[in-house]
Amino acid sequence: RDRTMDISELHTCTFLAGMNMTILDKGMSVQQFVKQKSISNSASGNEDAFYVADLGDIIKKYWQFSKGLPRVKPFYAMKCNSTRAVLQMLAFLGTGFACCSMAELDMVLRMGVPAADIVFVNPCKQVSHIRYAAEYGVRKMTFDCESELLKLAASYPQAEMILQIVTDNKEPWHTLSGICGVYISECENLLKKAKSLNMDVFGVSFHTGSRCKDTHSFHKAIEDARKVFDIGKNLGHQMRLLDIGGGFPGDSESRPTFEKFAEVIRISLDQSFPCNEDVQIIAEPGRFYVTSAFTAALNIVTKKVVTKKDGEERRQFSYVLNDGIFGSFFLNYMQMEETWPVVGKDFDTAQELFPSILWGPTCASEDKIVKDIDLPELEMGDWIIFPNMGAYSMSMTSNFNAFSTPKIYFVFTRKMWTVGQILKKEKLLQNHPQNNL
Ligand code: PLP
Repeated sequence: RDRTMDISELHTCTFLAGMNMTILDKGMSVQQFVKQKSISNSASGNEDAFYVADLGDIIKKYWQFSKGLPRVKPFYAMKCNSTRAVLQMLAFLGTGFACCSMAELDMVLRMGVPAADIVFVNPCKQVSHIRYAAEYGVRKMTFDCESELLKLAASYPQAEMILQIVTDNKEPWHTLSGICGVYISECENLLKKAKSLNMDVFGVSFHTGSRCKDTHSFHKAIEDARKVFDIGKNLGHQMRLLDIGGGFPGDSESRPTFEKFAEVIRISLDQSFPCNEDVQIIAEPGRFYVTSAFTAALNIVTKKVVTKKDGEERRQFSYVLNDGIFGSFFLNYMQMEETWPVVGKDFDTAQELFPSILWGPTCASEDKIVKDIDLPELEMGDWIIFPNMGAYSMSMTSNFNAFSTPKIYFVFTRKMWTVGQILKKEKLLQNHPQNNL
């Protein structure tokens, strides 16, 4: 049993206005809801893949971030997942937003996010997008080369320029340093060029790469940022913002943990940017907020049996599912993500397991979601559940074969719903103290 309600009927609620969502019964977990939903959908002949998004999980992440990095204001990297409810929830909680394009700026500006809480983090911007930012007063923007500087000097001289530096991250999936960011050795020339153009450089940013595995990358990048701050200050720039990018893990199994990253960052910040210096510190976490909030449920469309004769004869199964690499699982193809699903139905754990391959629905040989996993024998119509699917999934889907995007069911556990109501009340009182009668 769950109660579905239209939040707009709860007239005080602004953060999820107009959104259909479910508040789970007391004691019901999100995993139980996913299972229940898959059973009820199958019963009504609906085998479409779907997501369940636990919005209370985002509130927990907000607290975890504030506790771990109290000196750092998060600006959510919305490229990661720009689902409206996620954006509304984060805006309600008070994060800023890191946007990469005019469309992203537009989405959050329309939600009423103040321009001061937005940073335009694409260091290679189209001029019309810069003009749009200028029109709406979004001033903070990154740059990393002379041509971008010239472009901004011509189109938006009031911009608050943030110089993006490269980070020393050698992990194979981290290719960003190859595209974005300037080497420390080139910063002085660029800062001089900015001065000569009358452009004030306002801060330094870096991004250690999504799924960063090395806490030392942050330590090194913060030290490097300090060097660039000093060069800038000596040249007369008003250096007063440090942006430490994203890359924080979004699920509890990832190592190093968020807490480990936070510890290293806190120490590095206190060494290089002590509190008594008037520097605003921001970050651009993306996956951190959304990974664990989203669970995907995929249905088995076709089952194929293969017999493998590798010495002993053993059976292997290929299952074709109704979402894949060209949908929510693009990062699996890029080998940037490993997703480990669980079987949706109950099964006897003593049952024999078989090597299995999970395919997406497009028949393309690249559309392989999981190459090798041991599973009990499953049937067409069974569900496979993928936890931790909130980051770079829906935001990277293509229209290849025109399979539809999975529907999202938004939920709150009963406990987190109560917390949300308390937060909302506090917020209302902050904004309208006269209501505290
Ligand atoms: N900032 C920049 C510049 C990025 O390119 C990205 C994504 O790679 C992020 C922030 C967010 O990274 P993550 O989702 O790993 O926190």
